Parts: sequence; structure tokens; C-alpha cells
Amino acid sequence: MNRTYQTYSIWIVFFLIPILISSCNHKNNGKEYESEIVGQLGVRNHEFDTIFVELLPQINQLMKEVGSNLEIKLSNDFDFQKREEILLIPLTPYSKRISASSNIDYRFILINPDYINTIMYEIMLDTDVFKDILTLLIIHELCHFELGKSGQFDEILTESININGILNGDNYPNFNESKLIELRVDSLAISYIQKATKSKNQATCSLSNSLKKQLGILEASVAIDRITNFYGTPNFNVLNDLSKTHPNFELRLAFMNYYLNPSASKKRMLNKFIEEREIRLQN
Ligand SMILES: [Zn+2]
Repeated sequence: MNRTYQTYSIWIVFFLIPILISSCNHKNNGKEYESEIVGQLGVRNHEFDTIFVELLPQINQLMKEVGSNLEIKLSNDFDFQKREEILLIPLTPYSKRISASSNIDYRFILINPDYINTIMYEIMLDTDVFKDILTLLIIHELCHFELGKSGQFDEILTESININGILNGDNYPNFNESKLIELRVDSLAISYIQKATKSKNQATCSLSNSLKKQLGILEASVAIDRITNFYGTPNFNVLNDLSKTHPNFELRLAFMNYYLNPSASKKRMLNKFIEEREIRLQN
């Protein structure tokens, strides 16, 4: 199976598995609470904890400066009694197909740094972007909380048939509900990043500008990688959605980059992309 394809797809696994967190007794203890969740889903990954210890205060500072009161914490610092706190759980899931996912009701975000690291290396041949990608994913997931809508960063589907169809729900060109939610989450996340670029705080300004830069690079890298990997594949259509719940990843990235750097040429590109999708589907 093509690995790049896995990247753009998503995992539904965390939403299909009922989270049966039985006891409320441990909810003021981050580590015990984390154990309850992890035990059902995979293995806690500690390999990248030093990176998260470095990143989370920066992300929290950024969120604060854009007007959010949400705070993302590792289990050592997480207090369930504080409603603004969200637990980040670096996880190697049993399924192995996960990048990031949020659970609103139980106030945690799952992230699979191992998988993301591998994917980033394959797409961009550069692991230096790893921290920025983790940050982007976490901000995206926090925006799910802001909007009160659980979800994931992307979706991973493995069935090869999916590359030949546009998985758009039943009523394209109207995106189905989950795709609209993802676009709203992307929009909110990108508005936070844009707002943060104007911060007077040096660290926040630097972080948001770095994220902005990475989004531009990511869009180009993903497009090149997908074309390269699918070159010669019968019926492959780069306009396709590869997921039932998320819009085409290139389209999402293009929208985000347009928000950050609006230009007439980018707008034409987006219009053309959407127009092509509609025409293809209508026919
Ligand atoms: Zn999402």
C-alpha cells in the first residue's frame, strides 16, 4: 500500500472504540487518568516527551495570546479539575494508523509522534520540521475543543479502492458535516496562527511565523509527493478526497495558505481546483 496515501487518510479507530473510562476517582490525577485511557487504545510513547515539554508551554502561550483559555498538558501536569486543561497523550496505538485525535468529552488529545515522524520524513525528507508539524497538529486539535467538536487531524483509510473515488458523502458539492467541521477547525487554527504572527512576544511571533512557513512548504511537498507516488496509477485523481470525513488534504493546505498569504493567483488556483472537482463529479 502506498504510504503517502496513508498520510492523507484518517483513523476512525478512536471514535469507534467506546472510551469506557469507568472511574471518576482518578480524574484529579493526570497519570492515573492517562493510564485508564492508554490501556484501552495503545502504548504510551515516552520517546518524544522532552520535545513536548519544550513545545507545550509555547503552544499554551500562543493560545493565551490569541484569546483562548485552553491549556494542553502532559499527564504530570494535568489536573482534571481544571476545566481549561486538556491532556496530551503521546501514543503508539494498536492500529498504528493515527496522527492526532481529540476527545472533547474526556478532555484529551491523542498524538502519535512516531507515526508523524515517519510520515514527515517520507514526505519532506527532513525531520527538522517535526516540531512544527506536531505544533500544527496540536493547535488543530485544540481548535476542535474550541468549537466543541471531536475529531482528528486527518483520516487514514487503507482500502485501495478509495484512491479511485471521491469520498464525499452522498451529496457533493456540499461537503458532509464532518468535512465542514474540519474546514471550520482548519480556519480557526489558521486564524490563531495568523493572529500570533503579530504578537509582541518574541517566542510566539517566532513560533507562528515558523508554522506559517512550514504550511507553505508542506503544501508543495505533499502535492509533489502525491503526484510522484501515484504517477501512472489508473484512474487516480489528485482532486479526490481520500477520506469520508476530511476534505482533500491539498485543498485544506491550499485554503490555509491562502488565508495566510492571500493572492489573486492563489485564489484562481483554489477556484480552479474546486471547479475541476465539481465537473469531475457531475460527470
Ligand atoms: Zn480535525
